[in-house]
Amino acid sequence: MIVKRNKLNLWERLYLPAIIGGFKVTVRHFFKKKVTMQYPEEKWVVPEGYRGAPYLVKDQEGRTKCVSCQLCEFVCPPKAIRIIPPGPSGAPDAGNVEKAPHEFEINMLRCIFCGFCQEVCPEEAIFLMKDYSLTGTRREELIYDKEKLLALGGVHQDRIRKWKKKADEAQAQGLAP
Ligand code: SF4
Ligand code: SF4
Repeated sequence: MIVKRNKLNLWERLYLPAIIGGFKVTVRHFFKKKVTMQYPEEKWVVPEGYRGAPYLVKDQEGRTKCVSCQLCEFVCPPKAIRIIPPGPSGAPDAGNVEKAPHEFEINMLRCIFCGFCQEVCPEEAIFLMKDYSLTGTRREELIYDKEKLLALGGVHQDRIRKWKKKADEAQAQGLAP
């Protein structure tokens, strides 16, 4: 079937109604409230409880809370965590109290932000923070080592300060400086 086209009159062939109509839409949106986000200078404010990238935290005394139990490494579904414990000859982090990991890596390319590591950790040493935008120019840059994870995690304000108690006991027994 051939569809017959209506002939345009002179006014229509000038395209002025269409151009004016387009300008009207532009002017209307020009004065409306801005909705575009200038990413990455502006960032999305994530809701409470958001599960972003997992980082290690320190306690109030600046000690590594992780005790190398490796539960998180065991439970991590995509095997994104790799821990090297200090071993029997390794120096403890908190004066003969516990053993901080020799190395702790999280491969952010593998991490699925499931939160299992946070849930399973007996020391509240690893938390899923609010970071959702992790970038790098090489794959190696997205394997975060212990220093980087601790720097990003910051300090966790503990209510129960078991380290302090044990450190005091060790000091009293002359086992710690
Ligand atoms: S959030 Fe899930 S996938 Fe990511 S490191 Fe923790 S356990 Fe592994
Ligand atoms: S982060 Fe927690 S679960 Fe993982 S090794 Fe350290 S203490 Fe254990």
